[in-house]
Amino acid sequence: MDKKTATKNLDDVITKVEGARLRISEHHIVKIIGISKYSSIEDIKILYEAGQRAFGENKVQDLKTKSEELKDLPIEWHFVGTLQKNKINNLIDLNPTLIHSLDSLDLAIELNKKLEIKNKKLSALLQINSADEETKSGVSPKVAIETYKQIIEQCPNILLKGVMSIGAHTEDEKIIKESFKTTKKIYDELVPLGAKYCSMGMSSDFELAIACGSNMIRVGSTLFKD
Ligand SMILES: *Cc1c(COP(=O)(O)O)cnc(C)c1O
Repeated sequence: MDKKTATKNLDDVITKVEGARLRISEHHIVKIIGISKYSSIEDIKILYEAGQRAFGENKVQDLKTKSEELKDLPIEWHFVGTLQKNKINNLIDLNPTLIHSLDSLDLAIELNKKLEIKNKKLSALLQINSADEETKSGVSPKVAIETYKQIIEQCPNILLKGVMSIGAHTEDEKIIKESFKTTKKIYDELVPLGAKYCSMGMSSDFELAIACGSNMIRVGSTLFKD
């Protein structure tokens, strides 16, 4: 990817985000996370130079390699992948800005335990499996609020900042929309408990996600395309 392409990709996403968010309200701010999991360190650097500052990875080892290689740039690193328990310590040491993929109370308790030992705190979102799909991680919408409260009570070293969902895996826009609305409704109920981010929307559906109230999108392929 050359600089000109990166600038155009970013401009295209920003233009679409602007359109979508202004249809909600001029006060509705959306944060863009560039998901770099399929991209090279060189391409991340080019996109950084085009203006993108927040990036996300879905594997702890990739986050480590890329963030260490790019440590001279003030990049904000996010973690969006399934977190295996044996990788928790490695992830904590990388000090990510936000973990989007806290997907069970069990994982939260394990993460909290390791954070306590290291005397650290980390910000995270509770992942909700909004369409109750077998192939996806996350808590069921039915127990999401209860689980969120349990994490707040039992895991003082995890700073819960909201929720994350991946849109339903289908071509049917109505079903995807329903899955986003389910997560947004839960998010709204969690705002009084301190929720700030509703992370929904990827390359194929971020405008729809914003229309449903997302304020944080995770875009990979459309931002890094050649
Ligand atoms: C890969 C990934 C994305 C980005 O997907 P694209 O379709 O490439 O935009 C967003 N969120 C998560 C959790 C991912 O794993």
